[in-house]
Amino acid sequence: MIKINENFLKLQAGYLFPEISRRVNTFKDQNPQADVIKLGIGDVTKPLVPAIVEAMKSAVDDMGTAEGFHGYGPEQGYGFLAERIIECDYKSRGVSLDKSEIFISDGSKCDTGNLQEIFGTDNVVAVQDPVYPVYVDTNVMAGRTGQAGKDGKYEGIVYMPCTAENGFAPELPSEQVDMIYLCYPNNPTGSVADKASLKKWVDFARDNKALILFDAAYETFIQDDSIPHSIYEIEGADEVAIEFRSFSKSAGFTGVRCAFTVVPHKLKAYKSSGEPVEVNPIWNRRHCTKFNGVSYVTQKGAEAAYTPEGQKQIQEVVQYYMNNAAVIRESLSGLGYSVYGGENAPYVWLSTKDGMSSWEFFDLLLEKAHLVGTPGAGFGAAGEGYFRLSAFNELDTVKEAMRRIAKIS
Ligand SMILES: *Cc1c(COP(=O)(O)O)cnc(C)c1O
Repeated sequence: MIKINENFLKLQAGYLFPEISRRVNTFKDQNPQADVIKLGIGDVTKPLVPAIVEAMKSAVDDMGTAEGFHGYGPEQGYGFLAERIIECDYKSRGVSLDKSEIFISDGSKCDTGNLQEIFGTDNVVAVQDPVYPVYVDTNVMAGRTGQAGKDGKYEGIVYMPCTAENGFAPELPSEQVDMIYLCYPNNPTGSVADKASLKKWVDFARDNKALILFDAAYETFIQDDSIPHSIYEIEGADEVAIEFRSFSKSAGFTGVRCAFTVVPHKLKAYKSSGEPVEVNPIWNRRHCTKFNGVSYVTQKGAEAAYTPEGQKQIQEVVQYYMNNAAVIRESLSGLGYSVYGGENAPYVWLSTKDGMSSWEFFDLLLEKAHLVGTPGAGFGAAGEGYFRLSAFNELDTVKEAMRRIAKIS
């Protein structure tokens, strides 16, 4: 008899984005004329920049020649890309890394989801609430949780509420936790962590022999110079933290697929006897066994993101999105909404008015303004009463969306 992995049966059915699509499709069936604007799902809208397109085209040409053809590459990624990452993303911020600490992959969703696999199933997981659902669901699949309660929270996970009351900065857990997921700039709240608050987490992890899984997918959107881009800007973080970065939002690679994970050699995990083991070779083993590398053409495209033209062109796109975010922030504040985020992240997080629930506000916007956003409650219990609008769209569309909200507010 073939047995199912029952951990998968604990997953909750009503996953956020399918539920949004269901409601949008129902609305469209009933209102075929309606021009529905989407400021919902976190996908970029601008095309790849010319520097990247050129590099990818030339890499395709290489592949068509005997000399330039590339078959399987190194599972960890090509040295040419790892070198640019170390130089431009880290050395420029005072962080030194070795090439063997960089693992290039096909996405941070996969990396944040896969990394938990090399750690014991009895580790206690802590997440920010609201949270990017991948961290929680992959730990459910791995068996690190019990069943979900009525509030959607899984038994055994430590949820750290991030609300307006604590400035979206979670308190340190009072119980022992072993795997702490932190996402900065944050999806969905758009909040950032300064050096002092990251230091608090690094110190906590060192004191408790815990691991920080730091998701920096939105690092490129940071506008405030005092905000760290990498957790390794904090002293001692290389002993306790793994960092995830992605070209998805920064360089428009959501459909191209390229990301990387940093696993420093100094990072240790422990055997049940308490004996420390280096994490890097274990992740390397996992990565090489289950992954066969990112395509040469893709990595050539990612490399071009670090050329002076690439950097300039990417920054223009980032500034375009950040201008959208500013338009959203200003319009909503003017309408009396409390707005958060949107200053160092492409997401604006707002409080609904008059105690309206996240899904009630979703339905109101859809039906009266033909506008789709993301209900905060879909990211966790502490997201109830909040709503996320994304800056990934055309400026004119964003302005039209704001006019529509103004009409119903
Ligand atoms: C979009 C996003 C990522 C990037 O995922 P990819 O698989 O690299 O496209 C990672 N983390 C968060 C929180 C995100 O929103």
